[in-house]
Amino acid sequence: MLAKITPYRCAKCGSGNVVPYTNGEKTAFSFRNLQKQAKATEYRCPDCHSHLPYSMNAVDKAAADSMVLFGGDERTTAGFLKKYRNLEIDPVLQMICLNP
Ligand SMILES: [Zn+2]
Repeated sequence: MLAKITPYRCAKCGSGNVVPYTNGEKTAFSFRNLQKQAKATEYRCPDCHSHLPYSMNAVDKAAADSMVLFGGDERTTAGFLKKYRNLEIDPVLQMICLNP
């Protein structure tokens, strides 16, 4: 399983590949500049190509991370897959949730 936890998720598609930018420059991932990361002014998603001033809200992100890592109940997961199409949810679980 390729599950991974990333600091941000795309607010539009749920992708964990979203990259924070600060004033047009890529914000480097480092534990030393976590404070700088918090000031990211834009989140660019390589999967749905959106540029948004915010990332996924904390409540949805925590739920999405949990589903990606541990799976979730079918109804909740199906709802998230409709809202966020690029979540890295186990393909078998996706099939079950989207084709009940
Ligand atoms: Zn996206």
